[in-house]
Amino acid sequence: MSYASQVKTELLQAENDACCEMSLSRGMLLFGRECAPAAISILTENGEIAAAYAKAARLFCGHTPEIHVSESGNFKVVINDRADTDAILGEVLPAGMNGRRQLAIGPIDKDCCRAAFVRGAFLASGTVTDPDKEYHLEFSCPSNRLAAELKELIGAFGIEMKQTRRGGANIVYLKKSGDIEDLLLRMGATETSMMLMGSKMFKDVRNTVNRRVNFENANIARSIAAAGKQYHAIETIEKYGGLGQLTPELRELAELRLENPDLSAGEIRKLLKDPLTLSGVNHRFKKLIQIAEDLQDEHK
Ligand SMILES: [Zn+2]
Repeated sequence: MSYASQVKTELLQAENDACCEMSLSRGMLLFGRECAPAAISILTENGEIAAAYAKAARLFCGHTPEIHVSESGNFKVVINDRADTDAILGEVLPAGMNGRRQLAIGPIDKDCCRAAFVRGAFLASGTVTDPDKEYHLEFSCPSNRLAAELKELIGAFGIEMKQTRRGGANIVYLKKSGDIEDLLLRMGATETSMMLMGSKMFKDVRNTVNRRVNFENANIARSIAAAGKQYHAIETIEKYGGLGQLTPELRELAELRLENPDLSAGEIRKLLKDPLTLSGVNHRFKKLIQIAEDLQDEHK
């Protein structure tokens, strides 16, 4: 079963208030494959959705349409009896200014019913990608107008959908994990939403840990390389005239480095008699390296 199908299975189990049943059914019928006087239909890989769609149709036409299974294993519900389609469209489609029914969502009064409508629309036309691969949730809407109205409806929940056209379809979609979590929660997929939050938290934590480990490894490598260079410079100074030629401050630092070859500059700093900033310590190490290079040049 696809990830989207698993999410839809959870959505089908969400409880409806009595007032929401009509909105949920309207959402499914409006956002199915066809919603016109000639035919009202859906094609889905999920048998439970086909059953829910048939139940939604019964709410408006009084009897349950048949569910057909295709050879490829997809489920299809088609209502093409004109009396049935008229009965359904008369309830599902809102009347326009001229009194004629139009393919539109129209106003929905209550928040709970809006959420139920969106759930129905998602069951019929939505998909969501496995968050381990990508954050993506979308509705493939039957018309540009339905897409715009759905975007507005979901916008009332504070969730800003994006709208586009792809291959002749009107797509309304989300890419941000936070928005996807919010919408799944609104639609009633609490478990999926929580798991998504968990997976995002896990990813965030994992990325931070990786970044920190890489950062620290790089720092340690740099610090070891620097200590090695300083140690080598001080050996060169010893070789050509000894540490006695150094100023007392430089000599103190050189001796500390020879005694502690594996300490970082920051750790060496703490061993100094008089306090000094880290950049001061690094500056003195630079001087030692310069002196060693000059001595080396002289003795070539
Ligand atoms: Zn309601």
